[in-house]
Amino acid sequence: MVEELITRGVPCSECQAGIMHYHKVTYLTWLNEDLITVPDFPAWVCDVCGRREYDGQAIFQLNLLLNPTAGKPTPAVRKHRVSKKKPQQKRPRPSRPE
Ligand SMILES: [Zn+2]
Repeated sequence: MVEELITRGVPCSECQAGIMHYHKVTYLTWLNEDLITVPDFPAWVCDVCGRREYDGQAIFQLNLLLNPTAGKPTPAVRKHRVSKKKPQQKRPRPSRPE
């Protein structure tokens, strides 16, 4: 299905007239003070208004790469204290009638 979209293109959500085609573009983003350039980044570019929409999955993966805390295990889940039940005391049975 994705391949079909790539060959046909998708209608532009901005101008409604153009078709957004799949392109590999250079993605620019700032990481703190550093400008990061990512060549061959998948994006959809409108042939009329030039609107660019970057591939969501690729953005997600890029953010994982750029985020230094990505992939690290989250802080340990708080452990619930399990209150130990007191062992039930055996009641001395009333003496059986014999
Ligand atoms: Zn457009």
